[in-house]
Amino acid sequence: MKGALQLGKVSNIRILVHWTFLFILVWVVFLEIQRGGNFESILFNLAFILVVFLCVVLHELGHGLMAKRFGIKTTKITLLPIGGVASLEGMPENPKHELLVSLAGPLVNLVIALALYFAIPVQSFISLHLTELLEKLSEFTLPNFLFYLFVANLALVIFNLIPAFPMDGGRVLRALLAMYTDRIKATQIAASIGQSIAIVFLLLGMLFNPFLILIALFVFLGAYGENKMVQQIALLKGHVVKEAMLTQITLLKPNDTMEEVVGLILSGTEKDFIVEKEGRPVGILTNVDIMNNSKNRKKEVREIMKTSFKEIDLDAPLGDVFRSVEVQKEYFFPVLNKKGLLVGAIDMVNINEFILLQSKLDY
Ligand code: ZN
Repeated sequence: MKGALQLGKVSNIRILVHWTFLFILVWVVFLEIQRGGNFESILFNLAFILVVFLCVVLHELGHGLMAKRFGIKTTKITLLPIGGVASLEGMPENPKHELLVSLAGPLVNLVIALALYFAIPVQSFISLHLTELLEKLSEFTLPNFLFYLFVANLALVIFNLIPAFPMDGGRVLRALLAMYTDRIKATQIAASIGQSIAIVFLLLGMLFNPFLILIALFVFLGAYGENKMVQQIALLKGHVVKEAMLTQITLLKPNDTMEEVVGLILSGTEKDFIVEKEGRPVGILTNVDIMNNSKNRKKEVREIMKTSFKEIDLDAPLGDVFRSVEVQKEYFFPVLNKKGLLVGAIDMVNINEFILLQSKLDY
Protein backbone atom coordinates (compact mmCIF):
# COMPACT_ATOMS: atom_id res chain seq x y z
CA MET A 1 0.00 0.00 0.00
CA LYS A 2 1.30 3.41 -0.94
CA GLY A 3 1.96 6.02 1.70
CA ALA A 4 2.70 3.64 4.53
CA LEU A 5 5.54 3.91 7.01
CA GLN A 6 7.27 0.79 8.27
CA LEU A 7 7.33 0.61 12.06
CA GLY A 8 9.16 -2.68 12.37
CA LYS A 9 9.25 -6.32 11.53
CA VAL A 10 8.07 -9.32 13.55
CA SER A 11 8.83 -12.84 12.37
CA ASN A 12 9.35 -11.48 8.82
CA ILE A 13 5.98 -9.70 8.84
CA ARG A 14 6.36 -5.99 8.12
CA ILE A 15 4.33 -3.73 10.41
CA LEU A 16 3.20 -0.65 8.50
CA VAL A 17 1.18 2.38 9.45
CA HIS A 18 -0.74 4.19 6.72
CA TRP A 19 -0.49 7.98 6.69
CA THR A 20 -4.28 8.32 7.06
CA PHE A 21 -3.77 6.93 10.57
CA LEU A 22 -2.73 10.48 11.50
CA PHE A 23 -6.38 11.51 11.02
CA ILE A 24 -7.50 9.51 14.00
CA LEU A 25 -4.86 11.15 16.22
CA VAL A 26 -5.83 14.61 14.96
CA TRP A 27 -9.48 13.72 15.49
CA VAL A 28 -8.85 12.64 19.09
CA VAL A 29 -7.04 15.89 19.86
CA PHE A 30 -9.81 17.88 18.17
CA LEU A 31 -12.55 16.12 20.18
CA GLU A 32 -10.69 16.71 23.43
CA ILE A 33 -10.15 20.42 22.73
CA GLN A 34 -13.81 20.76 21.75
CA ARG A 35 -14.80 19.11 25.02
CA GLY A 36 -12.70 21.62 26.92
CA GLY A 37 -9.95 19.13 27.72
CA ASN A 38 -6.51 20.10 28.97
CA PHE A 39 -3.01 18.90 28.13
CA GLU A 40 -3.36 15.97 30.53
CA SER A 41 -6.63 14.71 29.02
CA ILE A 42 -5.30 15.04 25.47
CA LEU A 43 -2.19 13.07 26.36
CA PHE A 44 -4.30 10.43 28.14
CA ASN A 45 -6.53 9.95 25.10
CA LEU A 46 -3.67 9.92 22.60
CA ALA A 47 -1.78 7.34 24.65
CA PHE A 48 -4.96 5.30 24.90
CA ILE A 49 -5.54 5.25 21.13
CA LEU A 50 -1.92 4.25 20.52
CA VAL A 51 -2.09 1.39 23.03
CA VAL A 52 -5.42 0.18 21.58
CA PHE A 53 -3.80 0.08 18.15
CA LEU A 54 -0.89 -1.84 19.64
CA CYS A 55 -3.51 -4.41 20.73
CA VAL A 56 -4.84 -4.37 17.15
CA VAL A 57 -1.33 -5.15 15.85
CA LEU A 58 -1.07 -8.02 18.33
CA HIS A 59 -4.48 -9.24 17.11
CA GLU A 60 -3.27 -9.26 13.49
CA LEU A 61 -0.02 -10.93 14.52
CA GLY A 62 -2.19 -13.63 16.11
CA HIS A 63 -3.70 -14.35 12.68
CA GLY A 64 -0.31 -14.12 10.95
CA LEU A 65 1.61 -16.38 13.28
CA MET A 66 -1.16 -19.01 13.32
CA ALA A 67 -1.29 -18.93 9.50
CA LYS A 68 2.47 -19.45 9.44
CA ARG A 69 1.98 -22.75 11.27
CA PHE A 70 -0.04 -23.92 8.28
CA GLY A 71 2.54 -22.72 5.76
CA ILE A 72 0.80 -19.49 4.80
CA LYS A 73 2.96 -16.39 4.69
CA THR A 74 1.85 -12.97 5.89
CA THR A 75 3.68 -10.22 4.03
CA LYS A 76 2.55 -7.26 6.12
CA ILE A 77 0.21 -5.81 8.67
CA THR A 78 -1.10 -2.33 7.84
CA LEU A 79 -2.64 -0.02 10.40
CA LEU A 80 -5.49 2.12 9.07
CA PRO A 81 -7.79 4.48 10.99
CA ILE A 82 -10.50 1.78 10.89
CA GLY A 83 -8.24 -0.95 12.24
CA GLY A 84 -5.55 -3.35 11.13
CA VAL A 85 -5.27 -5.46 8.00
CA ALA A 86 -3.05 -8.53 7.84
CA SER A 87 -2.12 -9.42 4.25
CA LEU A 88 -2.10 -13.20 4.26
CA GLU A 89 -1.09 -14.98 1.06
CA GLY A 90 -4.42 -16.80 1.01
CA MET A 91 -6.52 -18.53 3.63
CA PRO A 92 -6.11 -22.21 4.51
CA GLU A 93 -8.80 -24.24 2.74
CA ASN A 94 -8.83 -26.88 5.45
CA PRO A 95 -11.76 -25.76 7.65
CA LYS A 96 -9.99 -26.66 10.90
CA HIS A 97 -6.99 -24.55 9.93
CA GLU A 98 -9.17 -21.65 8.80
CA LEU A 99 -11.03 -21.83 12.10
CA LEU A 100 -7.77 -21.63 14.07
CA VAL A 101 -6.34 -18.79 11.95
CA SER A 102 -9.58 -16.79 12.28
CA LEU A 103 -9.90 -17.36 16.02
CA ALA A 104 -6.24 -16.56 16.77
CA GLY A 105 -6.78 -12.78 16.40
CA PRO A 106 -9.75 -12.36 18.76
CA LEU A 107 -8.10 -14.86 21.12
CA VAL A 108 -5.16 -12.46 21.55
CA ASN A 109 -7.56 -9.70 22.70
CA LEU A 110 -9.37 -12.12 24.97
CA VAL A 111 -6.08 -13.04 26.64
CA ILE A 112 -5.18 -9.34 27.06
CA ALA A 113 -8.67 -8.64 28.49
CA LEU A 114 -8.38 -11.55 30.92
CA ALA A 115 -4.91 -10.49 32.05
CA LEU A 116 -6.19 -6.93 32.65
CA TYR A 117 -9.29 -8.28 34.41
CA PHE A 118 -7.14 -9.79 37.13
CA ALA A 119 -4.36 -7.18 37.10
CA ILE A 120 -6.56 -4.09 37.61
CA PRO A 121 -8.66 -5.83 39.12
CA VAL A 122 -11.87 -5.11 37.23
CA GLN A 123 -13.86 -6.23 40.28
CA SER A 124 -12.89 -3.01 42.07
CA PHE A 125 -14.68 -1.05 39.32
CA ILE A 126 -17.73 -3.25 38.96
CA SER A 127 -18.46 -3.23 42.69
CA LEU A 128 -18.90 0.56 42.67
CA HIS A 129 -22.25 2.32 42.36
CA LEU A 130 -22.84 3.94 38.97
CA THR A 131 -22.37 7.51 40.23
CA GLU A 132 -19.16 6.53 42.04
CA LEU A 133 -17.96 4.67 38.96
CA LEU A 134 -18.57 7.61 36.64
CA GLU A 135 -16.75 9.95 39.01
CA LYS A 136 -13.81 7.59 39.31
CA LEU A 137 -13.61 7.12 35.53
CA SER A 138 -13.39 10.86 34.92
CA GLU A 139 -9.87 10.91 36.40
CA PHE A 140 -6.75 10.35 34.34
CA THR A 141 -5.16 7.57 36.37
CA LEU A 142 -3.33 4.41 35.40
CA PRO A 143 -6.05 2.07 36.78
CA ASN A 144 -8.63 3.96 34.69
CA PHE A 145 -6.40 3.72 31.63
CA LEU A 146 -6.14 -0.04 32.13
CA PHE A 147 -9.88 -0.35 32.74
CA TYR A 148 -10.63 1.42 29.44
CA LEU A 149 -8.09 -0.84 27.77
CA PHE A 150 -9.90 -3.87 29.22
CA VAL A 151 -13.20 -2.61 27.77
CA ALA A 152 -11.56 -1.89 24.39
CA ASN A 153 -10.12 -5.41 24.15
CA LEU A 154 -13.45 -6.93 25.08
CA ALA A 155 -15.09 -4.80 22.40
CA LEU A 156 -12.48 -5.97 19.87
CA VAL A 157 -13.32 -9.59 20.69
CA ILE A 158 -17.08 -9.05 20.33
CA PHE A 159 -16.87 -6.84 17.24
CA ASN A 160 -14.54 -9.20 15.41
CA LEU A 161 -16.65 -12.22 16.22
CA ILE A 162 -19.78 -10.80 14.56
CA PRO A 163 -20.48 -13.69 12.15
CA ALA A 164 -20.18 -11.66 8.94
CA PHE A 165 -17.40 -11.15 6.36
CA PRO A 166 -15.00 -9.35 6.48
CA MET A 167 -15.01 -9.85 10.23
CA ASP A 168 -13.18 -12.85 11.69
CA GLY A 169 -16.56 -14.16 12.81
CA GLY A 170 -17.57 -14.57 9.16
CA ARG A 171 -14.58 -16.82 8.55
CA VAL A 172 -15.22 -18.73 11.76
CA LEU A 173 -18.79 -19.35 10.60
CA ARG A 174 -17.64 -20.41 7.12
CA ALA A 175 -15.06 -22.79 8.60
CA LEU A 176 -17.66 -24.36 10.90
CA LEU A 177 -20.12 -24.77 8.00
CA ALA A 178 -17.37 -26.17 5.75
CA MET A 179 -16.94 -29.06 8.16
CA TYR A 180 -20.40 -30.25 7.09
CA THR A 181 -20.62 -29.09 3.50
CA ASP A 182 -18.22 -27.95 0.76
CA ARG A 183 -16.38 -24.64 0.95
CA ILE A 184 -18.33 -22.90 -1.81
CA LYS A 185 -21.68 -23.72 -0.26
CA ALA A 186 -20.33 -22.81 3.18
CA THR A 187 -19.20 -19.43 1.84
CA GLN A 188 -22.59 -18.83 0.22
CA ILE A 189 -24.44 -19.56 3.46
CA ALA A 190 -22.00 -17.51 5.56
CA ALA A 191 -22.27 -14.61 3.09
CA SER A 192 -26.10 -14.68 3.23
CA ILE A 193 -26.07 -14.71 7.02
CA GLY A 194 -23.57 -11.84 6.94
CA GLN A 195 -25.75 -9.81 4.60
CA SER A 196 -28.80 -10.41 6.79
CA ILE A 197 -26.81 -9.09 9.74
CA ALA A 198 -25.81 -6.09 7.62
CA ILE A 199 -29.49 -5.32 7.01
CA VAL A 200 -30.21 -5.52 10.75
CA PHE A 201 -27.31 -3.08 11.34
CA LEU A 202 -28.68 -0.81 8.65
CA LEU A 203 -32.13 -0.69 10.31
CA LEU A 204 -30.66 -0.18 13.78
CA GLY A 205 -28.37 2.48 12.33
CA MET A 206 -31.26 4.42 10.85
CA LEU A 207 -33.05 4.29 14.20
CA PHE A 208 -30.21 4.86 16.64
CA ASN A 209 -26.69 5.47 15.41
CA PRO A 210 -25.47 6.43 11.91
CA PHE A 211 -22.15 4.74 12.66
CA LEU A 212 -23.93 1.38 12.35
CA ILE A 213 -24.92 2.24 8.77
CA LEU A 214 -21.23 2.48 7.94
CA ILE A 215 -20.58 -0.93 9.52
CA ALA A 216 -23.58 -2.32 7.62
CA LEU A 217 -22.10 -1.16 4.32
CA PHE A 218 -18.70 -2.56 5.25
CA VAL A 219 -20.22 -5.95 6.13
CA PHE A 220 -22.47 -6.05 3.08
CA LEU A 221 -19.58 -5.41 0.66
CA GLY A 222 -17.33 -7.81 2.59
CA ALA A 223 -19.83 -10.64 2.22
CA TYR A 224 -20.29 -9.91 -1.46
CA GLY A 225 -16.54 -9.79 -2.14
CA GLU A 226 -15.70 -12.95 -0.26
CA ASN A 227 -18.50 -14.90 -1.90
CA LYS A 228 -17.45 -13.74 -5.35
CA MET A 229 -13.80 -14.53 -4.82
CA VAL A 230 -14.45 -18.06 -3.56
CA GLN A 231 -16.75 -18.74 -6.51
CA GLN A 232 -14.11 -17.44 -8.92
CA ILE A 233 -11.37 -19.55 -7.39
CA ALA A 234 -13.71 -22.56 -7.57
CA LEU A 235 -14.10 -21.97 -11.32
CA LEU A 236 -10.32 -21.97 -11.70
CA LYS A 237 -9.90 -25.26 -9.84
CA GLY A 238 -8.14 -27.94 -11.89
CA HIS A 239 -6.97 -25.44 -14.50
CA VAL A 240 -3.39 -24.39 -15.09
CA VAL A 241 -1.71 -21.25 -16.41
CA LYS A 242 -1.04 -22.86 -19.83
CA GLU A 243 -4.78 -22.84 -20.61
CA ALA A 244 -5.31 -19.13 -20.05
CA MET A 245 -2.00 -17.43 -20.83
CA LEU A 246 -1.38 -14.89 -23.58
CA THR A 247 0.84 -16.28 -26.31
CA GLN A 248 0.58 -13.57 -28.94
CA ILE A 249 2.63 -10.94 -27.22
CA THR A 250 5.21 -8.49 -28.46
CA LEU A 251 8.57 -8.93 -26.75
CA LEU A 252 10.95 -6.04 -26.22
CA LYS A 253 14.75 -6.04 -26.14
CA PRO A 254 16.67 -4.14 -23.44
CA ASN A 255 18.08 -1.74 -26.01
CA ASP A 256 14.77 -0.91 -27.69
CA THR A 257 13.97 2.79 -27.42
CA MET A 258 10.91 4.54 -26.03
CA GLU A 259 10.24 5.72 -29.59
CA GLU A 260 9.59 2.10 -30.59
CA VAL A 261 7.58 1.35 -27.44
CA VAL A 262 5.29 4.33 -27.92
CA GLY A 263 4.76 3.16 -31.51
CA LEU A 264 3.69 -0.27 -30.21
CA ILE A 265 1.31 1.23 -27.67
CA LEU A 266 -0.41 3.33 -30.34
CA SER A 267 -0.58 0.67 -33.05
CA GLY A 268 -1.78 -2.23 -30.90
CA THR A 269 -3.83 -3.07 -27.83
CA GLU A 270 -1.03 -4.41 -25.61
CA LYS A 271 -0.43 -2.32 -22.52
CA ASP A 272 2.40 -4.02 -20.64
CA PHE A 273 5.46 -5.69 -22.11
CA ILE A 274 8.04 -8.32 -21.26
CA VAL A 275 11.65 -7.50 -21.98
CA GLU A 276 13.50 -10.57 -23.19
CA LYS A 277 17.10 -11.57 -23.78
CA GLU A 278 18.08 -14.95 -25.24
CA GLY A 279 14.66 -16.43 -24.56
CA ARG A 280 14.56 -15.41 -20.90
CA PRO A 281 12.65 -12.50 -19.35
CA VAL A 282 14.94 -9.80 -17.95
CA GLY A 283 12.39 -7.11 -17.17
CA ILE A 284 8.80 -5.91 -17.20
CA LEU A 285 7.74 -2.64 -18.73
CA THR A 286 4.40 -1.57 -17.29
CA ASN A 287 1.97 0.82 -18.88
CA VAL A 288 2.40 3.28 -16.01
CA ASP A 289 6.18 3.35 -16.46
CA ILE A 290 5.79 3.79 -20.21
CA MET A 291 3.46 6.76 -19.72
CA ASN A 292 5.73 8.32 -17.12
CA ASN A 293 8.74 8.07 -19.42
CA SER A 294 7.10 8.76 -22.76
CA LYS A 295 8.57 12.27 -23.02
CA ASN A 296 12.11 11.12 -23.54
CA ARG A 297 11.86 9.01 -26.70
CA LYS A 298 15.60 8.29 -26.79
CA LYS A 299 15.58 6.46 -23.48
CA GLU A 300 16.22 2.72 -23.70
CA VAL A 301 13.88 0.11 -22.26
CA ARG A 302 16.61 -1.18 -19.91
CA GLU A 303 16.64 2.15 -18.05
CA ILE A 304 12.95 2.00 -17.24
CA MET A 305 12.02 -1.68 -16.91
CA LYS A 306 11.34 -3.36 -13.57
CA THR A 307 13.98 -6.01 -12.98
CA SER A 308 12.40 -7.66 -9.98
CA PHE A 309 9.22 -9.49 -10.90
CA LYS A 310 7.41 -12.72 -10.22
CA GLU A 311 7.74 -15.51 -12.79
CA ILE A 312 4.92 -17.99 -13.24
CA ASP A 313 5.33 -21.63 -14.08
CA LEU A 314 3.50 -22.93 -17.15
CA ASP A 315 1.84 -25.68 -15.10
CA ALA A 316 1.05 -23.59 -11.99
CA PRO A 317 -2.59 -23.79 -10.84
CA LEU A 318 -4.54 -20.72 -12.04
CA GLY A 319 -6.20 -20.38 -8.65
CA ASP A 320 -2.79 -19.78 -7.01
CA VAL A 321 -1.92 -17.04 -9.51
CA PHE A 322 -5.32 -15.42 -8.94
CA ARG A 323 -4.78 -15.37 -5.20
CA SER A 324 -1.24 -13.98 -5.38
CA VAL A 325 -2.46 -11.23 -7.70
CA GLU A 326 -5.08 -10.32 -5.09
CA VAL A 327 -2.42 -9.99 -2.42
CA GLN A 328 0.42 -8.37 -4.34
CA LYS A 329 -1.65 -6.05 -6.51
CA GLU A 330 0.66 -6.83 -9.41
CA TYR A 331 -1.08 -7.88 -12.53
CA PHE A 332 1.30 -8.89 -15.32
CA PHE A 333 3.64 -11.87 -15.17
CA PRO A 334 5.91 -13.71 -17.61
CA VAL A 335 5.19 -17.43 -17.96
CA LEU A 336 8.14 -19.82 -18.17
CA ASN A 337 8.43 -23.48 -19.11
CA LYS A 338 10.39 -26.12 -17.19
CA LYS A 339 13.65 -25.02 -18.84
CA GLY A 340 13.12 -21.44 -17.69
CA LEU A 341 12.36 -20.20 -21.20
CA LEU A 342 9.73 -17.57 -21.85
CA VAL A 343 6.55 -19.01 -23.39
CA GLY A 344 3.92 -16.34 -22.73
CA ALA A 345 2.44 -13.94 -20.22
CA ILE A 346 -0.55 -13.83 -17.92
CA ASP A 347 -2.44 -10.89 -16.53
CA MET A 348 -5.57 -10.21 -14.53
CA VAL A 349 -7.68 -9.34 -17.58
CA ASN A 350 -6.71 -12.70 -19.00
CA ILE A 351 -7.66 -14.63 -15.87
CA ASN A 352 -10.97 -12.77 -15.60
CA GLU A 353 -11.73 -13.67 -19.21
CA PHE A 354 -11.02 -17.29 -18.42
CA ILE A 355 -13.32 -17.13 -15.35
CA LEU A 356 -16.07 -15.62 -17.47
CA LEU A 357 -15.75 -18.36 -20.12
CA GLN A 358 -15.76 -21.06 -17.44
CA SER A 359 -18.88 -19.63 -15.83
CA LYS A 360 -20.63 -19.85 -19.21
CA LEU A 361 -19.71 -23.53 -19.39
CA ASP A 362 -20.82 -24.37 -15.89
CA TYR A 363 -24.22 -22.77 -15.72
ZN1 ZN B 1 -8.98 -10.38 12.99
